[in-house]
Amino acid sequence: MSKIDLKDKIIAGYRNVESDKLLGIFGNPIKHTLSPVIHDTISDYYSFNERYIPFEIEDNLGDYVKAAYDLGIIGLNITVPYKEKVIPYLSDIDEDAKKIGAVNTLVRSQNGYKGYNTDMEGLYRSIIEANEDIKDKEIIMLGAGGAARAVAYMCFKYKASKAYIINRSVDKAQRLAEDMNAMDDKSSRFISISSDKYETVPEGRYIFIQCTSVGLKEDDGLPLVTDKEFYKQACFAVDLIYNPAKTAFIKLMEDNNIPAINGLKMLLYQGIIANELWNNTKINNELTAQIYDKLYKKIYG
Ligand code: NDP
Repeated sequence: MSKIDLKDKIIAGYRNVESDKLLGIFGNPIKHTLSPVIHDTISDYYSFNERYIPFEIEDNLGDYVKAAYDLGIIGLNITVPYKEKVIPYLSDIDEDAKKIGAVNTLVRSQNGYKGYNTDMEGLYRSIIEANEDIKDKEIIMLGAGGAARAVAYMCFKYKASKAYIINRSVDKAQRLAEDMNAMDDKSSRFISISSDKYETVPEGRYIFIQCTSVGLKEDDGLPLVTDKEFYKQACFAVDLIYNPAKTAFIKLMEDNNIPAINGLKMLLYQGIIANELWNNTKINNELTAQIYDKLYKKIYG
């Protein structure tokens, strides 16, 4: 597809949109994205006159990024499967995003887009809001995929004392642990463990962070470790999944009276932080609560 066609496709996406500034998201699939709820609500509240449009991108990602820039789009989100692939097409990258190796937010600058990762800060904000912290805590991460990279980096940046990364494919957990330890002065902070060797995790009190996609389907069971006793070591738990609201992991934590949050606040805050970057503003608490309400109703009815 030529660049002109790409521009036409993007223009078609914005047809009938009367606005001063254009925002959007590139991904595939993109039909069910909730991000327009976040960004259109912010625009309406502050009368920014911005509109946020999802684009399902099949290939030619670099050409799309260039076409978006040529058309004056001020900000983009990037989602699955392009968070890593977009990096070569950026003019600049934020230091944290570079270390994570994934970008979910593009901010227009003089020569192109600068890439950020607001998933990581979004998750951190949701944990702090739940009156928890990462500093000096021991963490058990379940999963070592794309989202887990941002979670591991959060553990690094906010100074967890230890992080066990458990994954079905241990090579991925190993790579992630090595990448994190390589940036670290405490070079053994991250430890990879194959899910069938979960018993090698020392007994302790841990923050559990569930970063696998197990739980997305209603009939999914517990992720990676089926031994319920294992989860009793949690003092706090996060599941990145927000739909369904209560995965088997969250239900088990609640049954054990362990405070647990799902990924909805992470979704909320990654969007809020992205919008703050695009508009160089600070979203107030009243608006944040309004957006959360809208997301909640849209997902859970
Ligand atoms: P990836 O596909 O990159 O990684 C998937 C992870 O789940 C891997 O660790 C994979 O293990 C594991 N996994 C998948 N299926 C199974 C299975 N049947 N048994 C055991 N392990 C399995 O996905 P992401 O990292 O991008 O996303 C992970 C989750 O995080 C998703 O549910 C997503 O919805 C959620 N998420 C939530 C966000 C939010 O804002 N709340 C933001 C981003 C993600 P293996 O390596 O062995 O394949």
